[in-house]
Amino acid sequence: MSFLEEIQRRRTFGIISHPDAGKTTLTEKLLLFGGAIQEAGAVKNNKIKKTATSDFMEIERQRGISVATSVLAFIYKDKKINILDTPGHKDFAEDTFRTLTAVDSVIVVIDVAKGVEPQTEKLVEVCRMRSIPMLVFINKLDREGKDAFDLLDEVEQKLGLHVTPMSFPIGMGYDFQGIYNIWEKKLNLFSEKSKTSITESIEFTDVSNPELEKAIGEKAANTLREELHLIEEVYPPFSREEYLRGDLQPVFFGSALNNFGVKELLDAFIEIAPSPQPKKSEERLVDSKEEKMTGFVFKIHANMDPKHRDRLAFVKIVSGVFKRNSPYLHVRHGKNLKFSSPNAFFAEKKEIVEESYAGDIVGLHDTGNFKIGDTLTEGEVLNFKGIPSFSPEHFRYVNNADPMKAKQLFKGLDQLMDEGVAQLFTIEMNGRKVVGTVGALQYEVIQYRLEHEYGAKCTYEPLQVHKACWVEATNPKNEEYKEFLRVKQRYLAKDKQGQLVFLTDSEFTIQMTLSKYPTVKLHFTSEFK
Ligand code: GDP
Repeated sequence: MSFLEEIQRRRTFGIISHPDAGKTTLTEKLLLFGGAIQEAGAVKNNKIKKTATSDFMEIERQRGISVATSVLAFIYKDKKINILDTPGHKDFAEDTFRTLTAVDSVIVVIDVAKGVEPQTEKLVEVCRMRSIPMLVFINKLDREGKDAFDLLDEVEQKLGLHVTPMSFPIGMGYDFQGIYNIWEKKLNLFSEKSKTSITESIEFTDVSNPELEKAIGEKAANTLREELHLIEEVYPPFSREEYLRGDLQPVFFGSALNNFGVKELLDAFIEIAPSPQPKKSEERLVDSKEEKMTGFVFKIHANMDPKHRDRLAFVKIVSGVFKRNSPYLHVRHGKNLKFSSPNAFFAEKKEIVEESYAGDIVGLHDTGNFKIGDTLTEGEVLNFKGIPSFSPEHFRYVNNADPMKAKQLFKGLDQLMDEGVAQLFTIEMNGRKVVGTVGALQYEVIQYRLEHEYGAKCTYEPLQVHKACWVEATNPKNEEYKEFLRVKQRYLAKDKQGQLVFLTDSEFTIQMTLSKYPTVKLHFTSEFK
């Protein structure tokens, strides 16, 4: 297979959903189709449940599972599929945002009964802002749920999407009979048997065919005809260009648990979903078909064994071919590195590979060289964009609880922040450290890991912060900016990149500051240039 064919056949995507909508179940069924696993239940659920908060061994165990399921790759109909895992738990939303910088498209899973839930809203918003192509899967049709049209409305209104149904359910819950596949013009009937085998589908290019009554009964046949007619009038026809631009989202219905509608989803997906996309760097747009290798780190995972403190850095290859033992430029450090054992991911295993292509993910063993966002190239100085930090939700001072272990504490904090567990801010005035997180759970994870991996102890102290705002001075030399720095000095801090951050205590403070210092801009993300 040629270099270009290898790249064209790759489909790298993430599945996003609110916890419990069925992401794990769907992932597992997709893997079954790829022949990557033999039986259901092989994919571990890597959800970090709320109940795990006080159970650290549980957190550790789950961290282990999440390494294994970080990337799931398999071949289906000659396409190389890479599924990137995205934690659904809201305390790990940052992790998911970063993973979304490495996908070329997304499947959104929605529970037919619960409809659009908060975590789905947040994640879809990020995808929408980046114009990532999205496909929607409405799950659990075997259960009583919302009316399909109401649900489509809800998806449009709450998620700000433009949808077009590619399949449509016949009945629901107890009366669920199956799905009409608008895309392939086929009828798929649901039966108990379909749980264990791939269902037969019946070709129905014309739904006015009286055979339809025989298949699903007169009442359901008439309803389906009316509904399909309505769909044609209300929703735009599917257009791949619009989908790829992020302007139109095709919707599929099914039941992941019953393996129903999943094959149809996968078949449509491999046909319409994009191969590896070009990516913006600060310097230029990099095309996946360029022969020179470029890539960036979007995730770092610490080793589970505290005695071996090496880490696994996950690199998305943006262009070219990544080769084992080839020298690559680590752009931020300006030095060349070689990797003798790059890991590729296959189903739930990882193995050492000689070559990986644009679109693939490689896992590189790292002893502290990498941090999230780092770029690797064959020599060109490039910095990929799009891994911003967002304002954390929680803020606490961190204190050293063991004066003999100050060095270990700072090293530990430094490395945990490079992994993206949380954000560290240093108050300008007194050098105190503030840890900002998305969820309260991370504070316990940090404390636990500092102790077990670095031998350091910390305590926290509350700090009243509403939002961290990244400061941009449109005129850094003027008196106004100097006054801002003077007046607000108690609340100014540097993030790990050395960017200036204003730790505001309320929305009111933000508004007052903006009106008092018009040349100062406040941003809720670190990447605003
Ligand atoms: P995740 O949190 O999004 O990964 O959700 P899971 O895949 O773990 O599913 C959550 C629960 O919903 C589990 O108990 C699944 O068995 C169940 N589930 C998933 N898909 C379906 C479905 O199609 N029908 C029904 N009835 N239950 C489902």
